[in-house]
Parts: sequence; structure tokens; C-alpha cells
Amino acid sequence: MSLRENAYDFLHNSLYFYHLASDQEYPEDYKRFWKFALVDLVQSIELIFKELLIRENEFLIYENIDKPKHTVSITTGLNRLKNIVRINFEDKDELILKQAINLRNEIIHFGIELDLKELSTIYTVLFEFLYSFHYRYLDEELHENIHEEYWEEEATLIEQFKNELVIYGGVEISKDYAIEIAESQLFTNFTSRGKEYKRIKFGDEYNWFKQTNCGDCAVKQGYFHALGCDLEECPKCGERVVGCDCNLFEEFNDEE
Ligand SMILES: [Zn+2]
Ligand SMILES: [Zn+2]
Repeated sequence: MSLRENAYDFLHNSLYFYHLASDQEYPEDYKRFWKFALVDLVQSIELIFKELLIRENEFLIYENIDKPKHTVSITTGLNRLKNIVRINFEDKDELILKQAINLRNEIIHFGIELDLKELSTIYTVLFEFLYSFHYRYLDEELHENIHEEYWEEEATLIEQFKNELVIYGGVEISKDYAIEIAESQLFTNFTSRGKEYKRIKFGDEYNWFKQTNCGDCAVKQGYFHALGCDLEECPKCGERVVGCDCNLFEEFNDEE
């Protein structure tokens, strides 16, 4: 397994614990899972750092390049990315990374009393860092590597980003909009009078304009349009599902 794949495994684990810790439907006690969410996110970042070090030179991931045995700590990795690979970290990014690393070490080595507010704040800022760092230095969106089952967690985090705009699915969108796209993927059918109609994904339309992203809702080819998109095709009549006489969308909306 490559470092990069390993990084995404830890990220998914982290999002799983984020879900358990942050979702109100779970017992109060589940808040303690914030610690695993953070530890796994830091681990994921460490692996991404190592991936970038290896791309520069395979020996850079070793603590001692003359004795290639132990790999570097995340702090050494960060310093090498700055000083050798010449990656420019903003002060605020370095600060949050250091805070997160300290917190991770405390969680692992000491039985600290968890400050849940602090944990959740650091987690969100750190996730935003990884999101933009990944796009800049791995030349691909992090989103492309997140399993669809975690898109809701991803979108909930994006909503809390400090930056108003985010690159998502190949286009720049408002940070509040990712959740609409993520939620729309959960509804695969329209139902009318007991009959199910499979929703038509962007790209599968009878009349498709061969763009990579929908001109109205911005969703990427191969995914369901955001609910209410003007360009979604009606699976029954082929007209626009918002406004055609079949009323599939209207009936769906009334049920929601
Ligand atoms: Zn659309
Ligand atoms: Zn129709």
C-alpha cells in the first residue's frame, strides 16, 4: 500500500469518528471519540507529508538518511518540507499544525482531560488546511479521494471553513453549497403513486451538453444534480423535472 492510500485510510477513519463525535443523534458519551478523530487526522497529514518527501527524494523520509531505518516524525517532516522541498507554509498553518501535534501527543501519552470545544475547533481548521494543502501540492482534490459515504461529513466540515469559496468537484463553489450536492446523492429515486423512477445523473441525460460540470448546479459528471437544479431531466417525460407535468419533484418535495 502506498503512503498516499494509507493517508486516505486514516482520513476515512477520522471522518468516521468525526461522525460519531459530532452528530447529535449519538449519546453525549460519544464526544470522547473526538480524540480518535483528531489523532487519525494528524496521522493522515503525516503520511501526506511523507508522500511529498518521497517524491523529492526517497531517503528524505528517514530520520537519519545514512541509516535508513526509522522514518521522520511529523514535525521533522514539516521542517524538511519547508527547508528542503521549499514548501511555503503560512504562519497560521504552521501554528495549527503544531497545536494539533501537541494535542495528539498529549492524547496518546497522557490521560488528559479533553477540552471538546478546543478539539472540535482544531479539527475543523486542520481539515481545512489538509483540504487546500492537498489541492495545491498533490494536484488533485482531496474530495476525489473521499468515499461517497463520507461526503456528508466532508460537506459539514466545509461549511465551517474560514474561506468562503472552495474547489469542489472541479469547480469553485460557495462553502455552504457542498452539503446540498452531498445530500442530493442520497436520493436515488423519485416516487409517484407507488412507482419508483430512477433519478438521472448529470451526464446520463438524453440531451446532454457534454460539459464536465452542470451549468446550473455545478455538480460533476456522473453524480446526481443538486435537488432543485433546473437542468435535471425528468425520468418519466424527459423534460426538466422541476416544472414538468409529471410532478415528480414536487411530490418528492412535499414528502420531505
Ligand atoms: Zn444540475
Ligand atoms: Zn416529467
